[in-house]
Amino acid sequence: MGVYATTDPATGEATAEYPEISDSDLDTLIGRSAAAYRSWRTTPLEQRRAVLTRTAEIHRGQAEELAKLLTLEMGKPVAQARGEVELVASIYQHYADHLEEYLADEELGIKGAGTAMVRTEPVGPLVGVMPWNYPYYQVARFAAPNIALGNTIILKHARNCPQSALAIERVLGEAGLPDGVYLNAFISSAQVAAAIADRRVQGVSLTGSEKAGAAVGEVAGRHLKKCVLELGGSDPFIVLDDADIDTAAGAAAVGRLSNGGQACTASKRFIVADSVYDEFLPKFVDAMAGWQLGDPTNPETKLGPLSSVAGVEELDELVQDAVAKGASLLLGGQRPDGPGAYYPATVLAGVTPNMRAFSEELFGPAAVVYRVSSEEEAIELANNSPFGLSSSIFTADMAKAERLARELEVGMVWINSTSKSAPDLPFGGVKGSGFGRELARFGFNEFANKKLVRSP
Ligand code: NAP
Repeated sequence: MGVYATTDPATGEATAEYPEISDSDLDTLIGRSAAAYRSWRTTPLEQRRAVLTRTAEIHRGQAEELAKLLTLEMGKPVAQARGEVELVASIYQHYADHLEEYLADEELGIKGAGTAMVRTEPVGPLVGVMPWNYPYYQVARFAAPNIALGNTIILKHARNCPQSALAIERVLGEAGLPDGVYLNAFISSAQVAAAIADRRVQGVSLTGSEKAGAAVGEVAGRHLKKCVLELGGSDPFIVLDDADIDTAAGAAAVGRLSNGGQACTASKRFIVADSVYDEFLPKFVDAMAGWQLGDPTNPETKLGPLSSVAGVEELDELVQDAVAKGASLLLGGQRPDGPGAYYPATVLAGVTPNMRAFSEELFGPAAVVYRVSSEEEAIELANNSPFGLSSSIFTADMAKAERLARELEVGMVWINSTSKSAPDLPFGGVKGSGFGRELARFGFNEFANKKLVRSP
C-alpha cells in the first residue's frame, strides 16, 4: 500500500508518513458518509450556519498554526500561507451568510393555473480529489458550499499534504460538524475510482492536472456520476499599447510568481504589443528579479521552494527544452546548489510552437514573453492553447478591454489586474481547463438537485 507523506520542500527532510487505508475501511467511510447524509440533509439552517461561521472563526483563531503547516508541507512562504487561511475563512463565512438566499425556492412564471417551484436540494455523498498547491483553499471551494447545501464529503487530498488534510477534518469537527459529514480519506487512485463507482456516492469534484481529470472523468462517466473538473491553465497576460507599463510589469511579476508560480490561474504567457514590448520587457525582468529565493518560514520571503524536487525537475525540463531549441533565457533558468526544491524566477523569450513551453503548463516561476503586432494577433495567440482558464488584459481603454474579453476562450477575464479568487466570484474554465464552476452561487448549484414541484 502507498503512503501519504510530509517532506519539507525547503530541506528535503521527511517528517511524517501515513499509510493508505484498506478497501474495507474505505467501504466503512462511505457508509458513514451515507448515514450522515440522511440527517445532515434536513439539519436546520441555523445549525448549518453556526458550523460554517465557527469554521471561519477557527481558521482566523488558528491562522498561525494552520499557515505553518502549509509552509512545512508545500513550501508556501508564510505570509502567503496566512493569506490563504484568511481567504478560506471568508469562503466559509460567505456560505454561512448566503445560506437562505442560495437555498430559496424559485417560483417560475408559468402559463396557466397553479404554481411551479424549483427547490434546491442536496444529492448525497460526494468525493473530492484535491491538489497540494492551495491545500485549504481548494478543499474549501468544494466543501463549504456542499456542507451548506446538505451534501456530505469524502475527501482525497494530495499525498504530499497529509497534515493539512487532517487539519481540515479537525477544524470542521471542532466547529461542530456532525460525524461523517466530512471525512478525510488517505486512498489510492484505484480506491478513488471504487468510491466514485459506489452506488451510495452521487458525484465527484477534482482539482488537478488534465491527466487526473481525464481519469476521474472517465470513471464518473462510466458510472453516470456528475463531475466537476478544475484543471490546469496557461493564462495569457495581454499588455496592449496604451497600457500603463510600470503597473503592468509589476502586476505581471506578481501574477507569475505568487505561490511560487504554482497556481492554475497564474499568469504564464505574457503577450505584449510590439510598440511597448521594448519598454515592458526590461521592467518585467527587473520586477521578476526582485523576487529573490528565500526561506519560506521567513515572513519577508516572497519566493520559496517549489512543492517538490519532482516539480523543479518538470519545470526545468520545459525551460531547458526551450533554450536548447533556441529560446532566449533573460533571467534565471539555473537550479541553485544545495538542498531543497528551489527554482529561481525565470524569463524566456523567443518561444516557438516546436518548444514544449509553448503549449504546456509551466507550473512554477518561469514566464514566457511574446511580442505581437496587433490586437488580433494577441487574441489569436492567447487562444492558441489547449487551456482556457483565466486571463488578464492591461489597457487604458475599457471599451476595448470589454470587447477583447468577449474574444478570449477562457472562463475568467481580469481587466488591469492579475487573476484573483474571492468567495463571491465564480471560478472555472473551458477547453482543457475543465468544466463546472466553483464559489459564489455557481459552486453551490453544481451538486444540487434542482427539483421541480408543480402544483395545480
Ligand atoms: P495532480 O497530479 O493531478 O493531483 C491532483 C489530485 O489528483 C491529487 O490528489 C492526486 O493524488 C489526484 N490524482 C492524480 N491522478 C489521479 C487518478 N488517476 N485518479 C484519482 N486521483 C488522482 O495535480 P497536481 O500536480 O497535484 O496539481 C497541479 C495541477 O492542478 C496543475 O495542472 C494545476 O493547474 C491544476 N490546478 C487547477 C486548479 C483549478 O482550479 N483549475 C487549481 C489548482 C491546481 P496523488 O497525490 O495521490 O497523486
